[in-house]
Amino acid sequence: MPVNILNLPDLHVTDFKETETDYHVRAQPLVVSRLCPHCGRSNDTIKHAQKTLFIRDMPSHGKIVAIHLDVPRLLCKPCQQTFTAVVPEVDTARQMTGRLVRWIGRQSLEYTYAEVAKQAGVNEKTIRNVFDEYVTELEQQYRRETPVWLGIDEIKLGRFRAVFTNLQEHALIDMLPDRYSASIVKFLSALPNKEKITHVAMDMWRPYRIAVQCVLPEAKIVVDKFHVVSKANASLDAVRRSVGKSGQGKYEKGLKHAHKLFAKRQADLNDEQHLTVSGWLNNFPLLAGAYDLKERLYQIYEVTTKEEAWAEYLKWEQSIPPELAKPFRSVMTAFRNWKPYILNYFDDERVTNAFTESFNAKIRRVYRDGRGYTFERLRAKVLYTDMLQKRALIQDKVRVRKKQKFDEVNMAGYFSLVGSFHDEYETKLQNREAILGVDLPTLIAKIDGWKL
Ligand SMILES: [Zn+2]
Repeated sequence: MPVNILNLPDLHVTDFKETETDYHVRAQPLVVSRLCPHCGRSNDTIKHAQKTLFIRDMPSHGKIVAIHLDVPRLLCKPCQQTFTAVVPEVDTARQMTGRLVRWIGRQSLEYTYAEVAKQAGVNEKTIRNVFDEYVTELEQQYRRETPVWLGIDEIKLGRFRAVFTNLQEHALIDMLPDRYSASIVKFLSALPNKEKITHVAMDMWRPYRIAVQCVLPEAKIVVDKFHVVSKANASLDAVRRSVGKSGQGKYEKGLKHAHKLFAKRQADLNDEQHLTVSGWLNNFPLLAGAYDLKERLYQIYEVTTKEEAWAEYLKWEQSIPPELAKPFRSVMTAFRNWKPYILNYFDDERVTNAFTESFNAKIRRVYRDGRGYTFERLRAKVLYTDMLQKRALIQDKVRVRKKQKFDEVNMAGYFSLVGSFHDEYETKLQNREAILGVDLPTLIAKIDGWKL
């Protein structure tokens, strides 16, 4: 009989059977806890009966492993209640070994619940529950440093999800299942040392602003350049699509698929692309007008002060031809409603967004293609894959009691009888390794390989 089949030192294997798909191992625990769960106080027990627990273990050589574990039922002498002895490394409620529980957690970051369920020989619902608990544990392990510049963004994965970033470190801090005001408030309120945050760069979504004003009243709200010009890009895109639909000529057909070309700045087009775009603009005056408005909105960002920027904006607004007022209304509304925050961008250092179009496209591709990927799993995989963590040594100022010299200790011992007036404190610097978040450049590089 292979005694060591389980490689669990606290279990003594008494029998073993192998079938086509399973290993069945009969075992007895060498150590059990006799502490009574009813009164919680007494170890004073007698063996009352015997029970066989059916416990799953990690799959081995591609086979499901089942342990038939003979465990004593104990009677607590003081309270006269009976219970099953607790075996270390065995999760009795789940009917699994502790290492299987951890294995399921790790595997579920990589594979679908269905795949893990099949390999372990347990149902999908159990896998999901184990995984949820595993994620809660990981959350404790990966405590993230509160940033000085916080970014609040969103990614559309089925629905809009709020995303928090450390802007100076290009690191992702968290993703929420939605972007409701209450969720944002809850997240911000739970941030440790949140008074560290001096700037919050955000998308123009009112609940973000209200939440920040409520929880972080001292932080400066900034709407960065990216979010403003992307509004103009969306307006141009609406015009492009409507022109594309208007006729059946070869120009119109090509226009329908020219989203990427129009999203680029004119200066970034190569010669061939420039020729293509110019062809369209020459043929469709309305499109040319919209293109010009998009390009000119960027110019607002070439000035240095708030006042100049506002003047540039007003010039831009007045130049909108009546036939383009409707598609560009969203830009005007945004500028009017968010004026102080858009102009805050021109103060001190420029706070900029951490996301790129390509990152959004990539993470959405993973979400869409991964049939087994719920948002929660994608979030866990993004946030808790160890190699993606950005770590740094952080120096904290801590207040510590001054160390006393040897001959002072005796005196202090004497004085402590009288009172503790001798206590002296000093500020010291203490190093610790902190996790700043998920390194965005690394995530962007790795996410291409994420397939299911
Ligand atoms: Zn008891």
